[in-house]
This record gives sequence, C-alpha cells and structure tokens, in this order.
Amino acid sequence: MMPITRSDLEILLDSPDRTDYVVSAFADLTVKDGFRHFAETNLANIARQAGLALSEAEARQVLDEHLRPILRAVDQADPAARGLAAFSAPGRGLFHTVELHFPVEDRVVIDEEPFVLPLLERWYGDPSYLVALVDSHELHLFEAHSGHAEHVAGLNKEVPTEIQRDKPRFTYKKRFNDAWHERQQQLTNDEFLKGVAGIISEHYRSVPFTGLILLGQSSTTAAVRRLLHKEAASAVVLEHPQSMRPGPKAQDVEDDVSRAMEQWKASERSRLLGELEQRWSRGHLVANGPTEVLDALQQGRAVEIVFGPDRTMAGSRCGSCGYRFGVPTAECVYCGGRTSSVDAAQEIMRMALRQRIATVHLLDRPDRRAEDPLRRSNGVAALLRAEANWSPPGEGPEAG
Ligand SMILES: [Zn+2]
Repeated sequence: MMPITRSDLEILLDSPDRTDYVVSAFADLTVKDGFRHFAETNLANIARQAGLALSEAEARQVLDEHLRPILRAVDQADPAARGLAAFSAPGRGLFHTVELHFPVEDRVVIDEEPFVLPLLERWYGDPSYLVALVDSHELHLFEAHSGHAEHVAGLNKEVPTEIQRDKPRFTYKKRFNDAWHERQQQLTNDEFLKGVAGIISEHYRSVPFTGLILLGQSSTTAAVRRLLHKEAASAVVLEHPQSMRPGPKAQDVEDDVSRAMEQWKASERSRLLGELEQRWSRGHLVANGPTEVLDALQQGRAVEIVFGPDRTMAGSRCGSCGYRFGVPTAECVYCGGRTSSVDAAQEIMRMALRQRIATVHLLDRPDRRAEDPLRRSNGVAALLRAEANWSPPGEGPEAG
C-alpha cells in the first residue's frame, strides 16, 4: 500500500461546515502483482484518512456519499483503461468519470472545485494531431500523438474506391465507405480535392484533436484548406511542404510524418524561447509568474502561455467577484471579498482552455540536468497582445 501523504489530501480545512465538496479521484488501474484493483481499496483508505480530518460526522457522511459512486466506477472501469479520473459532488448533481490511457497515482482531492490539473497537463503536454499528407493524386491521413503516427485513412484519384477499400493498407471507416460506395470511375481534380477535404473534415469532427497539420505542396495544401469545413480549417496549426514518395509504403509515410512533427516541435520550442528572451530583454508585452499571467488572461490580453517543468503554484480566488490571484491571499484586493485557495496552474490552463485565443505550451526539460527555461518568471510566462489597463473592445474584464 502506498503511504498517504499530506499532499494526497487537499482538504478545505478553513471551511469545515461546507457540505458542497467536490471529490476528485484518480485511480491507477494498471496491473500490479497480478491484481488490478488495488485502486479501489487504496482510494477508500485515502478517503477515510481525509474523512478523519473533517471535523463533523455530517461531513464524513457526505464524503461517503461522494465516494460510493467513484468506487463503483473504479470497479466497473474498462479493462483496457490504465487509469480513471472521477469527479463526484451529489449536492450539485455532478458525477463525471474519464477513462485514461496513461498511468496515474491513486489520489483523492477534496475541494470546492474539481481538481483537473493532471488532465489539463496531459491535454497540453501530449497534444494529438490529425495529419494529412496530400498531393494532387493521393491522400494519407494519420492520427499523431505521443511521438507516433498511425495511418487511419487514404484516398487515391486513379484507383476506383471499391478497389482501394480492399487494399489492406487503406483502413476505411464505415462512414467514408458510404460516401464513396457507388463510385467506380476515376475522380476529377476538383472531385478529388473535395473528397480529400471531406474526409479530413469528417475525421477531425469525430475525434477531439488538438490541431490539424497539412503536409504537401503549398498550392495543394492551400486548396485543401479552403475546402475544409470551418471547424477543421480553423484548427490548422501547420502547413508544411512535404513531397509524396512515389508509391509510398505506409511505414515510409509514417516516418515522414513523425520527422515533420519532431522538426515542428523543436522549432516551436526555440520560437517560444526566442520570443520570450526578446520580450524579457525589452520588458515588453510579457507577463511573468502566475499573478501576472492570470491578470492577463482575465483581461483577455494573453495569446500564448508557456509553462516550465515546475507547475506547483498556489493561488486563490475571490468568492464574491470571482477574480483569481496567482498567490495565496486572504482578502480580494478589488472587492474585499473572502478568497479560497485554488491551484493557480489549473486556473491558468482552465481559463486558457475557455479562451480560444490563448494557447498553452508545456516546456519540460529536454533532459534531467537541463535548466528550467521558465525559472526567471516563477514557472509560467505569457506572450501578450496588449499591456495592462487594456480590455478588448466591447468587453469588460472576465470574472467568470
Ligand atoms: Zn473580489
């Protein structure tokens, strides 16, 4: 059994009478010593310890009500899942589980808000992309995440689609088959590019990708981009020149795609660090540290947010006006309201997630001895589109 640490139990000890807790639980579902569901017992024990710290019997009973559906969800989790995140607050009708394909440690957090930082870190730290490699005759579609690209669909102008479907290297999904089922003739250029854009748009909508990457000759990718559905077109993060090999094998194309992704990630890292260096040296359009970054987000000024490897950040939120601060503070400086403690990194990522304009990058150390590139700004910085005392036309500061 894992030792229980104080950090496992982030309880709101300053408001013991409050019954409106949210219990957030993370369960490790990987197999250990042949047993998978240590997690259930472990979570129950962690929560019991948390309950002992609550001062009232009523609060302990509430905790039980929160926990029961969580333990049931752990028991019934998909055998393929490596972890489970569950959020329970019967008082406000909240019960939500997320099956995870990455391992987590058993952990219970009791707070006024769900603790979702591990999910947000995964979302931003291991983004998944839909990658389309296209030329005037051929499309290959890949799903890329965790440094691996998997071929998911393809289209060839010269080959009748009925034949393509039977080729093992093309993995057609049912919905694509239906659209192309009756086609036996060769496709015209226009039809081909429309078909390409249709397949990309359809696939983009079916899976929650972080972004879309188009590889090919720039005239072709530009034409495809114009034909994409609006949602997919606005998700394009990269158009990159890439030639199609003659008679490409799936493995070759996957290697090309992986290489393009690696190059892009490396260039993104140096672009961000270069941009930060420049702005730091001029003291211009940059927010440093959790407080300034939260200010910028709440005023709609943050465009790109860059986290270093250390994302432990204590913050607070005003219970009256809702303003968020990047430091623990007892009283709101704006309205004098009482504040509660929050995880500042989670607040930053969550606000950025809501504001489509702000993107988040996690710059971990390339190796363990490397320096934390964000140390001079206490772990987080933001590139801004305007200095303080600015708000977007027609909008007030976002309090949300
Ligand atoms: Zn306030």
